[in-house]
Amino acid sequence: GLRGNAGWTPAWRQPEPKPHYDVIIVGGGGHGLATAYYLAKTFGITNVAVLEKGYLGSGNIGRNTTIIRSNYLLPGNNPFYELSMKLWEGLEQDFNFNAMVSQRGVLNLFHSDAQRDAYTRRGNAMRLHGVDAEFLDREAVRKKLPFLDFDNARFPIMGGLLQPRGGTVRHDAVAWGYARGADSRGVDIITGCEVTGIRSENGRVTGVETTKGFIGCGKLALAAAGNSTVVADMAGLRLPIESHVLQAFVSEGLKPFIDTVVTFGAGHFYVSQSDKGGLVFGGDIDGYNSYAQRGNLATVEHVAEAGVALIPSLTRVRYLRTWGGVMDMSMDGSPIIDRTHIDNLYLNAGWCYGGFKATPASGYCYAHLIARNEPHETARELRLDRFRRGYQLDEKGVGAQPN
Ligand code: FAD
Repeated sequence: GLRGNAGWTPAWRQPEPKPHYDVIIVGGGGHGLATAYYLAKTFGITNVAVLEKGYLGSGNIGRNTTIIRSNYLLPGNNPFYELSMKLWEGLEQDFNFNAMVSQRGVLNLFHSDAQRDAYTRRGNAMRLHGVDAEFLDREAVRKKLPFLDFDNARFPIMGGLLQPRGGTVRHDAVAWGYARGADSRGVDIITGCEVTGIRSENGRVTGVETTKGFIGCGKLALAAAGNSTVVADMAGLRLPIESHVLQAFVSEGLKPFIDTVVTFGAGHFYVSQSDKGGLVFGGDIDGYNSYAQRGNLATVEHVAEAGVALIPSLTRVRYLRTWGGVMDMSMDGSPIIDRTHIDNLYLNAGWCYGGFKATPASGYCYAHLIARNEPHETARELRLDRFRRGYQLDEKGVGAQPN
């Protein structure tokens, strides 16, 4: 750094686009890069381009609060997120990059009898799927996190559902690791290249118009997260998705005092502590549709209030930064990995506020679908037509909070 980065070898190339690729992926976020990586590594498809309108990591992959977990209830979701968890557990060895995978646990607090019953049911479902889940009573929570407000009369902490294998991962390292792994196998990662149109002939996509000119393709795979509706619209596809902003917050550095991820079950707040000491926390989405990567102050206040209701000592902490990302909110809270009615057009979208934890499985299953035209067995329920058929995977409340 002191030498102005002189002598550093870039981790991936900066190629100019070729006229044609077998597969073009729109969006160089976590999911687009992971898809390119598994297409090349696992399925041997290397004539691939990832087109990213900004710089790598400029989207949600570099903006999330880094939480991973697989504490889902429904059979359509649970095996998929558990596949992701297993991939996280071997990821750093797999792509030979330090992503600071930290399985420090994710604890969902409950505050009423009804919530306790719902969490118990979810914990049992997790165990039936072979996922780790532990039930903590009030005293076990107190022992673990004595600084929570146990005297709160309105929202008494009654206990929590813990997934010990959940935790955090350094988000931008995930983008860099996948990018380097894909690039070294021949994938062209082209940044500063916005897709502005989708060209098709006889019902087949033939390529994309971009700010770097037309690029032809055999298959087109969308992975544009918060901009999914805008990009799909270019192919005449209307999605059951709305875009909303979600904000994140970081405090000044403090001595280590939270060694897990905690979610408040009675308000919009969740928190972990980064290895640098900052509290990393967030709450609910801003309540209006937007494609802007910034949120409003009312939500900042709302999240701070919920945080103080759970951890009163937060009143003494200074907050350093807040930022926003654009969420692709699906109507049932679950994602879509599917083909579309256009033969060679594929869709990966609807990640809501929980797509970071899905990055490895999403990339793997999407690559499987693109390579074989068959959904991966763990992603069979994540179909686009479930909304038309009335087979929603309604799981937006899991974990009580965004993360
Ligand atoms: P992105 O990184 O947004 O990638 C999409 C890319 O597509 C962008 O880089 C964008 O520039 C590009 N793009 C869009 N349009 C075009 C175009 N026309 N041409 C070319 N490129 C285009 N999830 C969790 O699991 N745990 C969490 O703790 C968590 N916390 C979150 C906190 C916040 C504040 C936010 C904003 C999100 C959080 N999420 C979390 C959600 C998670 O970050 C997202 O669901 C996930 O990152 C989305 O997938 P992605 O990484 O591919 O998205």
